[in-house]
Amino acid sequence: MTSELLNTLVDKALQRRIPERSEALALLGDSEPLIDVVAAGARVRREFFGARVKLNTIVNMKSGLCPEDCGYCSQRLGSAAEVLKYSWIAPEKAAEVAGDAVRAGAKRVCLVASGRGPGERDLGRIENTIAAIKSEHPRVEICVCLGLLADGQAERLAAAGAHAYSHNLNTAEARYADICSTHTFTDRVDTLGRASTAGLSPCSGAIFGMGESDDDIVDVALALRELNPDSVPVNFLIPFEGTPLGDRWDLTPERCLRILALFRFYFPDVEVRLAGGREIHLRGLQSTALHLANSIFLGDYLTSEGQPGADDRQMIIDAGFTIEGVDEQTLPAARHDLVAIRRRGAGTALPSNA
Ligand code: SF4
Repeated sequence: MTSELLNTLVDKALQRRIPERSEALALLGDSEPLIDVVAAGARVRREFFGARVKLNTIVNMKSGLCPEDCGYCSQRLGSAAEVLKYSWIAPEKAAEVAGDAVRAGAKRVCLVASGRGPGERDLGRIENTIAAIKSEHPRVEICVCLGLLADGQAERLAAAGAHAYSHNLNTAEARYADICSTHTFTDRVDTLGRASTAGLSPCSGAIFGMGESDDDIVDVALALRELNPDSVPVNFLIPFEGTPLGDRWDLTPERCLRILALFRFYFPDVEVRLAGGREIHLRGLQSTALHLANSIFLGDYLTSEGQPGADDRQMIIDAGFTIEGVDEQTLPAARHDLVAIRRRGAGTALPSNA
């Protein structure tokens, strides 16, 4: 029988209300059996996203050699990880790689480049790449992930046809300096703000398995809520040898599922994307995670290989889900939470907010 706590969380989520901290912390503990937590999260996922799974694909436009020092990243300054290192690939090559994934079912193409942020020439390269992809696949969603944005850059990307901008908060603000010294949590928040202001769909999530506490997980979920993202990637650390976090293998499949459930309750009607690390940390429970996340990456990650696409597609079908088509809308049409009925000003006893 589902517990009172889980019933309460489901009821709140269906009304787009978020958990209390104590409720969220209970999800991460062991008082609620895992299967009940997943079943409760699945009710919310089903309500807003049905049985659809959205597929996204990454094109790594420029790999390695980053001047930033994010401790989880194989491309960081001083990384000894033996990952591919190359400068910008040509727009035509990027379009070819993207086209393969689109034909395999990807609805969103994420163009990612290492580095602190884009320069003028980089923006030109991305504009040309977007044009090359759109000429073949006009309806594909294009998300860009180029690091910190300066004034005016998000507007340029929007004008070029980008649909979304991705920039993860990664971890709780209080822990940010532990994982990176070359930029701040606030820098990241500012970039997401620039992207949203320019009309780009904000995509921002986190990475778990970096030594965070349960409260840190709640903190980063709340910080992400403040950004009002349309998509929230949930990553599980891929511990690359040769990086500062290379020996952290803290996660279990159960821990990953509880974190995903927590994110489903904090983001009931938002795209929760099961992202990097799913294969190595969820292992045989990947398909169980589809009952919580409504979106995954298809194919390889930035610098590590993912499960073969055919296996992902089979897993989706075997688990009773369907791949979201280009004509299907990802987010629920009705965002009632965005409409606040006026209860002040004219016709009331309260002053207006002018
Ligand atoms: S996460 Fe991005 S900014 Fe940080 S080191 Fe990796 S590529 Fe550079």
